[in-house]
Amino acid sequence: MEYFPYRHIDKTQVIKIGEISPASEYVQVSGKLTQVDLIGESRGRRLVAYLKDETGELELVWFQGISWIEKNLIVGNKYLVFGRAGFYMNTPQITHPEMELLTIGEATGKNFLEPIYPATEKLKARGITGRQIGKLTFNLFSLLNEKELPENLPLSIIQEHNLISRYRAFRQIHFPINNQEYEAAVTRLKFEELFFAQLRMGMLRSQRHHFSQGLVFDKVGELFNTFYRSFLPFELTGAQKRVLKEIRKDMGSGRQMNRLLQGDVGSGKTMVALLSMLIAADNTRPSDGSGFQCCLMAPTEILAQQHFAVLTKLLKGMPVVVKLLTGSTSAAERKKILPACEQGDVHILIGTHAIIEDTVQFKNLGLAIVDEQHRFGVEQRSKLWKKNEVPPHILVMTATPIPRTLALTAYGDLDYSIMDEMPPGRQNISTVHRYEHARPQVMDFIKNEISKGRQAYIIYPLIEESAKLDFENLMKGYEEVKAFFPEPQYWISMLHGKQKSALKETNMQRFVKGETHLMVSTTVIEVGVDVPNASVMVIESAEKFGLTQMHQLRGRVGRGSEKSYCILLSGTKISRDGRERLKIMAATNDGFKIAEKDLELRGPGDIEGTRQSGILDFKLADIVRDKKLLDDAKNMAEKIIGLDPQLTLIENLPLKNFLMSQKVKTIWSKIS
Ligand code: ADP
Ligand code: MG
Repeated sequence: MEYFPYRHIDKTQVIKIGEISPASEYVQVSGKLTQVDLIGESRGRRLVAYLKDETGELELVWFQGISWIEKNLIVGNKYLVFGRAGFYMNTPQITHPEMELLTIGEATGKNFLEPIYPATEKLKARGITGRQIGKLTFNLFSLLNEKELPENLPLSIIQEHNLISRYRAFRQIHFPINNQEYEAAVTRLKFEELFFAQLRMGMLRSQRHHFSQGLVFDKVGELFNTFYRSFLPFELTGAQKRVLKEIRKDMGSGRQMNRLLQGDVGSGKTMVALLSMLIAADNTRPSDGSGFQCCLMAPTEILAQQHFAVLTKLLKGMPVVVKLLTGSTSAAERKKILPACEQGDVHILIGTHAIIEDTVQFKNLGLAIVDEQHRFGVEQRSKLWKKNEVPPHILVMTATPIPRTLALTAYGDLDYSIMDEMPPGRQNISTVHRYEHARPQVMDFIKNEISKGRQAYIIYPLIEESAKLDFENLMKGYEEVKAFFPEPQYWISMLHGKQKSALKETNMQRFVKGETHLMVSTTVIEVGVDVPNASVMVIESAEKFGLTQMHQLRGRVGRGSEKSYCILLSGTKISRDGRERLKIMAATNDGFKIAEKDLELRGPGDIEGTRQSGILDFKLADIVRDKKLLDDAKNMAEKIIGLDPQLTLIENLPLKNFLMSQKVKTIWSKIS
């Protein structure tokens, strides 16, 4: 039901063949079938038929299913034909049209808007095409009645905002009877989506602000001071200092900190994290004097490992125990870490999602930091809350630049800090777009950089629908790169999602240590990885990447004092948006500008774009385009929570029921 069509094809119109122009897209015509020919040999074999009306002739072409189609087409009969029109030698043509036999006297087409659904390669390979999904959905709706899709908004809201019912909205978004109904359905469902998100956040925020209890870290002690005086490898930037102050204030306030720290790639968030953790570790629980523990969670194993390496190195000589826990930590190692953590002997636990599993217990968790996970949702955060009797302070760090107003919406339950200053000495990364045929020059350029002692990344797109394609793509690329960079003069590391993490680690470490010159990888490398000596980032098939993702990747270079370069390689066939993205990348290094452009470019139905920018997981709503709806939803939610923070009033019962039926039970139990 919630798998929505991305567009509808208007089949309500039947035009004349003579009206088809090069500007036509999908057309529907009716006419008489005058001729059917089988043309060509083996691979080039195709079926060509001709349809005539009083204004002209249309060519119909099939490459697949030829014999079946030929058997069913009858010359002399009238057909209703639908498909995407093209031109071949001045003759209008449709490849693989839909054909429907018209009975005598029937002159008009079917009167409806046909939904078109997105289908992945994997689905298609199993015969589930976008059209097939349409049929399944249609069947689904023939089984559903209004009772099974009850209203979840109070009548007052429905009336005030002139919304159609939930049931009608779901029907009409799939199978609209006309455009107005479709629009009304979209509006209703977008409102619902935004409203419940706001309601959830509002409840959490009000809950948090009412928490009289928050751990009080009012001491800046031995650990922090020693590190700051004797171990800090550089002077903090003004932004780092400011943010640290905000964090200290939060953690000392007696209220639970829930803060989002946003800082562009390379702005130095790790150091802020470390210093915050030292403050926590400097403080003790009044009841038994035990020191507070911290955890740092990263989205990938590689990044967790890197954090571990960086922090262990920085803290060398300090009495701070740092441990790493990921999905691939051995059972034996886990057996040691888990009890140590529970007894309070681990001061900083670094890891992946493995950290929030229930088996991981802390004696006294004081601060939880979530790195590079703008998608780390409210639900997951609430899991962290439960790791301690009094909820620990929480800091979420992200490099995804989000315009401030949007951040406040997307993270309405969080307070917000921003690091808008880079460490000194950073140079702009020169970014250029090159076409495929310039590859040899690009490779020569890399060779030249390597001869100066630098290293380079070459990144291939991740094809989410097909791990296989993805892998093939990368392997092909790897072979190509190898041809340009033969051993033993050059050494190459390769990294991809399918590798065992031990191998990943080895490959990564070789690159980090400078033992390999090149890192060929999919986007698993995307976040956080820090190799200051790397000066070239080549992005293959760059037109397939979203803006924020390219910006993230580019942030892997320019981390040292050397001049760095980002080269966007693409084929010559690029969509307009793709071209625009490459242009923006070449024009600016500013993450905020890029974020804004990104939001501008991606349409509400652009599933790929939404996923890549990853700001919010709304299915329909777009927080930029639907600003007005968003404001309405927000106001409404705030009003309701203001009057009835626990949703106990009878008129708010549908809201409560709906929230409870969603995957937010953990939060619910927290709130109520
Ligand atoms: P991000 O914000 O992307 O996580 P990192 O924390 O990885 O950035 O920092 C990027 C690089 O900048 C690291 O090599 C780090 O050591 C360095 N760095 C951080 N803060 C400073 C600073 N104040 N002065 C100089 N270098 C810094
Ligand atoms: Mg980082």
